[in-house]
Amino acid sequence: MKNSLNFENHFVEQLPADAVQDVFPRQVANACYSFVTPNKTAKPSLVCVSDDMAKIFNLSDTDQQSDEFKYLFSGNLIFDDMQPYAMCYGGHQFGNWAGQLGDGRAINLGEVIDQFGTRQTLQLKGAGLTPYSRTADGLAVLRSSIREFLCSEAMFYLGVPTTRALSLILTGDKVMRDMFYDGNTQLEQGAVVCRVSPSFIRFGSFQIHASRNETEIVKQLADFSIRNNFPHLTEPDVEAYGIEIYEQWFDEICQSTVKLMVDWMRVGFVHGVMNTDNMSILGQTIDYGPYGWLEGYEPGWTPNTTDVQSKRYCYGNQPQVAHWNLFQLGNAIASLVGRVEALETSLASFAEDYSELSQTMYADKLGLGEHHGAADQTFIDELFEMLQMTETDMTIFFRCLAKIKRSENYADYQLLEIIKPAYYQSKELDDSQNNCRIAIIKWLRKYLGRICYQKLADEKRIKKMNQANPKYILRNYLVQVAIDKANDGDYSEIEKLLEIMKKPYDEQNEYEAYAAKRPEWARNRAGCSMLSCSS
Ligand code: AMP
Ligand code: MG
Repeated sequence: MKNSLNFENHFVEQLPADAVQDVFPRQVANACYSFVTPNKTAKPSLVCVSDDMAKIFNLSDTDQQSDEFKYLFSGNLIFDDMQPYAMCYGGHQFGNWAGQLGDGRAINLGEVIDQFGTRQTLQLKGAGLTPYSRTADGLAVLRSSIREFLCSEAMFYLGVPTTRALSLILTGDKVMRDMFYDGNTQLEQGAVVCRVSPSFIRFGSFQIHASRNETEIVKQLADFSIRNNFPHLTEPDVEAYGIEIYEQWFDEICQSTVKLMVDWMRVGFVHGVMNTDNMSILGQTIDYGPYGWLEGYEPGWTPNTTDVQSKRYCYGNQPQVAHWNLFQLGNAIASLVGRVEALETSLASFAEDYSELSQTMYADKLGLGEHHGAADQTFIDELFEMLQMTETDMTIFFRCLAKIKRSENYADYQLLEIIKPAYYQSKELDDSQNNCRIAIIKWLRKYLGRICYQKLADEKRIKKMNQANPKYILRNYLVQVAIDKANDGDYSEIEKLLEIMKKPYDEQNEYEAYAAKRPEWARNRAGCSMLSCSS
């Protein structure tokens, strides 16, 4: 296996290291990272591997099943060419500056060039203490690791930028957790996920150095980011970048973040903890904690139990929060450009870019040939009002809507039959005097009018819609079922979900049950809707 994995260490070689070698929680000044050694664990055992990810590193089936694989990706085996390290970063948590955070339980093994020539960093989450662990233990439990593993891969197949997951391994050690923060601690199984990304640099990576007036490090880190992940912005041999390069770099970060928000809104994903330390400089989804998926369409919904009061990170706020976070990044890198006008211009165009891209996104979701400005916007606004009148599953609604044919002459009840699977309380739809039913019919008739008016044929519209509207999303209750089984030693449901989520836009009729509404038993069950940050 060593032959497939040659580790390189650009991050370590090109950026300043923590001078202190001992691992104990502390403030780490003048450094981007600290050298650390992952834990030796009692008895690593493989839970699952993302086959596609293994392939991009040329790891065969035999490699994946080998002892070496489980020792390596649980942190028990360190090759000579690795220099494991934890990154230093800070962040705004829930709108407040929190100072130094850092990789408290993530340990980077190094970089490997994948099959496509991309330099990927391999990182173990849950592999032990680092100087950034603060008061915590540096570990992760099986349930949250399953959630991170599956969602990283599901997001990728949905076409949403994300860090990836290569493997999930039980450490064999037990970890103490208070899952509901109610004083009931329990021993849970420890696990390590190997995450993969071309860069784990976060907005907070710049913020920490700016907050300490380490402006030279802000520059070194920005140069590193540009050289390694934004090479198209410069010529290969240029050593010192002009102001305009940093401005373009920031603009690209703004643009990729806008795109990410549009994608999250399209598929109904709610991150749950959009702190600036959980924002990737590459515009990828990063750090899967108490995330969730909209079931009933509700802009104010948050999956994070810590956020129920303020709802700062609820579904509908995400684009706005991303903009706020970019503003903080802009502040942190302002020293690179001297004049901030260009940064302000990039920030100012966020709203316009978001509105433009989301118009196209909703036009795709609705199968509109193109977006017809104000008239369509009213029509879309009416749709979202209607979706909130009674609990309506957003994902199922759009898939059903694609089934309406413009050539048909529908009676009201026939139109309603088509979209009925999306409703959690269908009795409202059966009562002809019900306001909700009246509004739904009115909107559906408008929709019919709108699709009859455009030239796009039904087959083309359906195809377009089904490419924008996933049939399968990683509903929290589905993952909880997989977690319950895994706690009993049965990993088959994880494998099954991974398989289904590989083709989220395909019908896959044999898996119809996985596309259905959340069952009533899951409405308030722990892990099936909302989650705490305990992980
Ligand atoms: P999060 O909100 O999960 O992104 O985490 C915020 C910060 O807490 C990051 O610096 C994490 O590395 C750190 N952290 C979370 N859980 C643990 C843990 N079990 N041990 C050490 N650090 C942790
Ligand atoms: Mg985090």
